Amino acid sequence: MDLRFSKADEAFRAEVRAFLRDNLTDDLRAAGRAAASAFSEKEWNIGWLKVLNAKGWAAPHWPVEHGGTGWSVTQRYIFDTECALAQTPNLSPMGLKMVSPVIMAFGRPDQKAFYLPRILAGEDYWCQGYSEPGSGSDLASLKCRAVSDGDDYIIDGTKIWTTQAHFANRMFALVRTDTSGKPQEGITFILIDMATPGITIQPIITLAGDHEVNQVFFDGVRVPKANRIGAEGEGWTIAKYLLVHERSSSYGAGVRVSLKRVREVAAATGALDDHAFRMRLAEAGVALEALTMTEHRVMAAISQGAMMAAESSMLKTQGTELMQRVNELGLEALQHAVMPYEHRWIRPGANDAPLGPQEAPVMIAQYLNNRAMSIYAGANEVQRNIMSKLVLGL
Ligand SMILES: Cc1cc2nc3c(=O)[nH]c(=O)nc-3n(C[C@H](O)[C@H](O)[C@H](O)COP(=O)(O)OP(=O)(O)OC[C@H]3O[C@@H](n4cnc5c(N)ncnc54)[C@H](O)[C@@H]3O)c2cc1C
Repeated sequence: MDLRFSKADEAFRAEVRAFLRDNLTDDLRAAGRAAASAFSEKEWNIGWLKVLNAKGWAAPHWPVEHGGTGWSVTQRYIFDTECALAQTPNLSPMGLKMVSPVIMAFGRPDQKAFYLPRILAGEDYWCQGYSEPGSGSDLASLKCRAVSDGDDYIIDGTKIWTTQAHFANRMFALVRTDTSGKPQEGITFILIDMATPGITIQPIITLAGDHEVNQVFFDGVRVPKANRIGAEGEGWTIAKYLLVHERSSSYGAGVRVSLKRVREVAAATGALDDHAFRMRLAEAGVALEALTMTEHRVMAAISQGAMMAAESSMLKTQGTELMQRVNELGLEALQHAVMPYEHRWIRPGANDAPLGPQEAPVMIAQYLNNRAMSIYAGANEVQRNIMSKLVLGL
């Protein structure tokens, strides 16, 4: 197996690097570098999306007919890796990677024509209304009710852990339209305009001190039935389709840049002189290469239309747990330097300053924030259940 890039791929990498050099402003890069969570705040990730969209590179994984680039899996990998290394703001996956495949696969032609261009252009900012208090892993037990009223549904209930709902102007949600049969049969997938009267958003402050997630309340919220995706009661099938796309996110590029940061910080703090630490760093590096190869294979299969449910659960567990391992190594590296408490929330220095203990604020925030990685998009224990069922038939 020849793992080197071809000449054409190297030329593509040079093109991506030149584009990043010319278009990634200092502000955007500083925001990307300081980001603690899976995706940057709206101002930055929409700002970067608009730059990408002007070049036609906003959604490389989309089919060309809807605005994708037609790149090979290797080109997409090169693009993701170069963006991560250049520390671009992380784009929100809610529109680009989660609801868009659903709209493409299950939406009506008018829904595709309306929503997809708005996602590419950054005109809509989406949040995900799946989880409820008491309905997380056991998602099919959800209770948020949508009652038919002429051409509309009236929605009452609540959603919780809704990431960036306070920035979003649209939500894709699972609502209960029927309580008579099996829980899975009475669920409907609907798109909600967040400006509709009756919606209240209440912040939840996380362990890292961030306002990232929320509880959203619906009190008699009137939503046109025309906003439904697929048929009434088809929501469970659509929800699972979306989750496969959500869990198949690419983790390798982000882990790679975090590992590079840890290595540089460890060199500056002296942690790299510790043999046992170096071994653990090397093990994480090997695991990263294995993850990257697996991601390639899964991405290639998905881009040809395969439903990779077990594989997406495997990528999710491997990617998130490796990232958490790298974050822990980062804290170990920092422990070698004494960090005065008052420096905790200082932003890192100039973009090209050598990495060292001054990275502590970002690395600690990332460590805290990434504790949630093994919970969101379906807890990793539940992913292991899915794999044992689908792969081992248990
Ligand atoms: C930071 C963050 C952001 C999130 N963003 C969103 C969002 O934008 N939209 C959204 O809809 N949801 C979001 N979520 C919710 C997330 O999907 C749920 O937290 C997750 O599905 C787990 O559900 P739960 O919190 O109710 O925990 P529970 O389901 O109550 O699980 C508690 C524990 O029990 C374990 N467990 C549960 N069932 C089983 C089982 N059958 N076998 C083995 N172990 C089991 C779980 O692994 C977990 O450790 C977010 C969560 C977090 C933490």
